Amino acid sequence: MDEREFEQAARNTEQINAAGLERVRQLLEPESHPDFDGKHCIDCYNQIPKERLQAGRIRCTDCQSLLEELRRRRLA
Ligand SMILES: [Zn+2]
Repeated sequence: MDEREFEQAARNTEQINAAGLERVRQLLEPESHPDFDGKHCIDCYNQIPKERLQAGRIRCTDCQSLLEELRRRRLA
């Protein structure tokens, strides 16, 4: 591995770490949205189960898994 390859590899690792950190931050932070009314999913307007509301979620399980799938694909 010459110096340039090493640099490129180091840069890639940095990017992966930054993306991973951002994802962890998103998962841990309580979510908020200007349209969130405190009860209904911001994407499909279905009622969110109480346990999810208490966990700071603003989406139903369906929309949440869809969103996480989309995020995963963008990061891949
Ligand atoms: Zn939903």
